[in-house]
Amino acid sequence: MSGKIQAIRGMHDILPDQTPRWRHVEGTIINIINRYGYQEIRLPIIEKTELFARSIGELTDIVSKEMYTFADRNDDQLTLRPEGTAGCVRAGLEHGLFHNQIQKLWYIGPMFRRERPQKGRQRQFHQIGMEAFGLNGPDIDAEMLLMCDRIWQELKLTDISLQLNTLGTLQTRDQYKQTLIKYFSSHRNRLDEDSQGRLQNNPLRILDSKNPDMEELIAAAPNIYDYLDAESADHFAELKSLLDNADIVYNINPRLVRGLDYYGKTVFEWTTDRLGAQGTLCAGGRYDMLVEYFGGKSTPAIGCAIGLERLIELIQISSHTTVNDPPHVYFILANDAATRAGLKLGESLRSTFPRLRLLMNCGGGSFKTQFKKADRSGALLALVLGDDELKNQTVGIKSLRDESQQETIPWANMVDTLRKKLTGHLNLP
Ligand code: ATP
Ligand code: MG
Repeated sequence: MSGKIQAIRGMHDILPDQTPRWRHVEGTIINIINRYGYQEIRLPIIEKTELFARSIGELTDIVSKEMYTFADRNDDQLTLRPEGTAGCVRAGLEHGLFHNQIQKLWYIGPMFRRERPQKGRQRQFHQIGMEAFGLNGPDIDAEMLLMCDRIWQELKLTDISLQLNTLGTLQTRDQYKQTLIKYFSSHRNRLDEDSQGRLQNNPLRILDSKNPDMEELIAAAPNIYDYLDAESADHFAELKSLLDNADIVYNINPRLVRGLDYYGKTVFEWTTDRLGAQGTLCAGGRYDMLVEYFGGKSTPAIGCAIGLERLIELIQISSHTTVNDPPHVYFILANDAATRAGLKLGESLRSTFPRLRLLMNCGGGSFKTQFKKADRSGALLALVLGDDELKNQTVGIKSLRDESQQETIPWANMVDTLRKKLTGHLNLP
């Protein structure tokens, strides 16, 4: 066979110069959501197609054109998950997690959507999602938004704003849908092709259009707040009051509709202007009907998902330097005998200093080459085992950051010497 095989369009490798940033972001977020009592759940990446079709909605962009769906060998229709909520609900029901209990869950991993690849849109992308089940009131909505706000703070991100809306109950929305259909039908000639296609089945989505030619028409459309049921209106008012009280700034955005059918009442997006057209970092809302819809007992729920690629891109352009941790020590080994002794000495150092980053010179080479590699590694210190050192059970130790002379110390003093030389680097108790 000839020719290089390349990755699938829209699916990206995350290379070693980026992975420290990913670990940092994931670690920070996971640490925060654990502190709010959310527990990790790990879910399959493939589910039955029906799960997504029925929950996200047949007429949404995701289900109608973005899913990776295929027939298994026994002809089951399967789909690479485009999002995490449906699988989380499926698992919760299957394992009885929702029986008279509150569940706060999070998950992390790849999602798949066959969209047109562009900046901020991949075909495989990654999300951290959190879902809270069994809580009715706006208090959990507010807490979830506070938790997101804390995530931005601890990642030292600024200029992220919160867009907030309510979609009311299903009845509200049905009524509002009819009103919108009437309104947009009477202006049919001003709708673009996309919107004409959405008119009968998904008119709310028209509100979400970014087409500048339709801006005026959309601005003048009937407002959902005039159709809200009392319960949703109260819920929304109380949420706003809780956020005001907690000093969370938000923009009320009656055009925010979300691209998935299962949402009702509270919906929100955290957005930034700094990423161009795809500026939504996190999106979510209430989906009080979904558990019951899948055959469970009526269970209120709210969730959201953070898009990790966009978040990491934002951190990168916000110019925070990240730690691509260089080793503390580079171990230089003269020959096979030195390698035998060095591997054992290295292990005893790793046991003594659990945080020590030690790079063994594997693959041989002259002292000169090995010193060059040590320099390039960015290590602070070199340890050197040559013939003399081996014979005398000593080791050479040389700073790679200044011109000081190489010292020779007995093996027995190695721990003390390293402890001294690496003060402030090893986070010792
Ligand atoms: P958008 O309006 O940006 O298409 P969406 O409504 O499809 O968003 P959600 O399903 O709510 O997005 O996903 C939540 C988050 O996941 C988004 O805010 C975004 O950060 C991220 N995301 C969604 N689709 C992609 C993608 N194709 N590539 C990268 N990130 C994505
Ligand atoms: Mg989308």
